[in-house]
Amino acid sequence: MNQLFEKLDELYGEIVDIRRYLHEYPELSFEEVETAKYIALFHEKLGHEVRTNVGGNGVLAYLKGGKPGPTIALRADFDALPIQEQTDVPYKSKNEGVMHACGHDGHTASLLGLAKALNSIQADIEGTIVFLHQHAEELPPGGANAMIEDGCLEDVDVIFGTHLQAQMPLGEIGYRSGPLQAAPDRFDIKILGKGGHGASPHDTKDSIVIGGQLINNLQQILSRRIDPLESAVVSICSFEAKNPYNVIADTAEMVGTVRTFKEDIRNFIEEEIDRVIKGTCLVSGADYEYTYTRGYPTTVNHEEETKFVAALAPSVPGVENVRETEPIMGGEDFSYYLQHKKGTFFFTGAKSPEDSEAYPHHHPKFNIDERALLIAAKVLGAAALNYTKKDQPAVNAS
Ligand code: MN
Repeated sequence: MNQLFEKLDELYGEIVDIRRYLHEYPELSFEEVETAKYIALFHEKLGHEVRTNVGGNGVLAYLKGGKPGPTIALRADFDALPIQEQTDVPYKSKNEGVMHACGHDGHTASLLGLAKALNSIQADIEGTIVFLHQHAEELPPGGANAMIEDGCLEDVDVIFGTHLQAQMPLGEIGYRSGPLQAAPDRFDIKILGKGGHGASPHDTKDSIVIGGQLINNLQQILSRRIDPLESAVVSICSFEAKNPYNVIADTAEMVGTVRTFKEDIRNFIEEEIDRVIKGTCLVSGADYEYTYTRGYPTTVNHEEETKFVAALAPSVPGVENVRETEPIMGGEDFSYYLQHKKGTFFFTGAKSPEDSEAYPHHHPKFNIDERALLIAAKVLGAAALNYTKKDQPAVNAS
């Protein structure tokens, strides 16, 4: 294990260079052609068996260890976001309006560095390591499901992945058994009223007034229909009805998001939104259109694998604090892998101790402390090398 850590320490400069290169040339979800090429070439140079175009732009690389053992998948996503970068780092995005603002450049650099380090101790590895480089995490339907349908989990026994967290202190690892990230869904509502002259409201069915009532009525789903000990989000994020100053709105459109952890609550909210719209429109004699689009499922970590990572993380160099993290309402398509295989997804703190204001993910000034890349690689590497020993008492990474 120490050999792996030493090798990773040696590779730190290269890992940072890779991350900065990827940061300079970000690509949007489903358009990550050059990034995929870069990743494939890196593995080919190491002599790994490589599969490209897996379920889209996904890349798989295989490292067969010198000894028999399980097949362990390590996943990193590599897509960027439609955001104009506003940092002044020297490796600022060169692609107009596209930015690695969620740290997926870091995930990829970390996994590539780990691949090189593991390659150097290939003879000692028990089993096979699958480097699962996933495209399109940010945009549903996402890359994970397509990669699974294209066989990325074939023969895989267990899968591990991590997300860098820009607002979690460097040195911290956050784990959680069970639901970790919510199912992020979308809904679209169109109110079909009756427009007319602004001076003759009695001849209209005012879509703006109906929409205003609807916004209020929808709040009751959470405050009056869901058990307060459960958690869910219903947010209306857009409300549009553009008209001249003297025209009453014929139609109004709303778009929003629902976040849930449990399938029964998810189903209930989907139906309840429809009932609330129906009731609100009935009062005003208006009609409506409603569509509910399901995003990724809830990310549910497996207990045994989560405990395993939590137990080995404290002895990984650079890790100062390992704690059970709260679930978050953001979605993640790692959820699909966990529906098929055992595994766990954990958080790696990437907030620099020198940085008083850490910007959140998806912010134009988002950045990470690059030392987190080394920690992420070491924890994932330790998980891969120790997995065969997980049932022995007192698992540790040394
Ligand atoms: Mn992300």
